[in-house]
Amino acid sequence: MTSITAINKKPYNVSFKRKIIDAHTHLGSWENTNYTIDSLDTFVKKPLDNGDIVEKMIVSNADCLNSANILDETTGNKKLLSMLNGNSHYVPLAVCQPNLTNGDATAVEKLINEHPEQFKGLKFHPREMQLPADSSLYDKYMEIAQKYNLPCLFHSDTTYDVKYPDGSTLPRNEFSRPEQIYKLAQRHKNVPVILAHMGGNSGQNTQAAVDLMVDSINNDRATLFADISWVNCDTKEKPDIITAIKKLMTTNKGDKTDRLLFGTDAPLGRFNPNGENGISPQTAYSKTVEDIQNAIKNAFGEKADALIDKIFYKNADDLFLCGKYKNPQKTLSCAKSKILPLGGVLLTAAAITGVFLHNKKSPDKK
Ligand SMILES: [Zn+2]
Repeated sequence: MTSITAINKKPYNVSFKRKIIDAHTHLGSWENTNYTIDSLDTFVKKPLDNGDIVEKMIVSNADCLNSANILDETTGNKKLLSMLNGNSHYVPLAVCQPNLTNGDATAVEKLINEHPEQFKGLKFHPREMQLPADSSLYDKYMEIAQKYNLPCLFHSDTTYDVKYPDGSTLPRNEFSRPEQIYKLAQRHKNVPVILAHMGGNSGQNTQAAVDLMVDSINNDRATLFADISWVNCDTKEKPDIITAIKKLMTTNKGDKTDRLLFGTDAPLGRFNPNGENGISPQTAYSKTVEDIQNAIKNAFGEKADALIDKIFYKNADDLFLCGKYKNPQKTLSCAKSKILPLGGVLLTAAAITGVFLHNKKSPDKK
């Protein structure tokens, strides 16, 4: 115990290899490509270029998201479990289709009851469903989320029109705007709701999402998170991620940087098995991780390591696996395993020791 405490007190200026949880990934079919487990295994099976290890990926089945060839909630989500086949690197979310069920969450609740140790959250894609995120058809699903302590990952999208250099305009999104998701989240204020892509990639769209997160915190109106998949994906400086961290560090309720999650949307886009522009998916993934970490280091100095630990691992671990935001009446498996069987205690202790040893082993001390 003494040694663990000693290691724990190690100052945060030590650079070490990290464990990562990717809070946003998919399997299944998307835009005419079928992604099998191999397309994600390629990221978890060996360390990234900087030595970091992707320990877990939070995953949902695109077969139930895509409006073409859609599988229903029961078929598609069960298919995800069979694709994952109990592989502990993956944490499944159940995709919900309130547009097709007319708001009836019975099938999803049955699925959760049948697989209580597997599904750790719900996934919604209002844009693909063409169902505005503030529709009452989501409410029964949010009640299920509350009842079973399930965070809800929402595809979030642009608040403002996006003008491209060639003069064309992408109009603001009609279904997945953060303000619409926030309206729903306020009706279920204790359910953790994650704004995937932080409102859509860059600039005023991402800042609109962050401003709503800060409003929800300052006024205690909802429990909003964001994942940073595709945010500033083509710049090294990551200006909107840095601004998001700064705004969340200084809310009226103090430091709320526990609300930001690293995610990639792999294996979509540049992370697909064929790569993009001659760059392999593994290289693209490593670069994504390194660029974000370097931007945080450049902006936050000695606070950077603690921030990176939170955004790349601890926040997702707390949210999806440890029930930090759970309904106090409920007991979650993560909490149970620490107090119940001896084996669980030993495993937990071994895991903790493993982390510290893993961190200690890396020698790039300066
Ligand atoms: Zn996605």
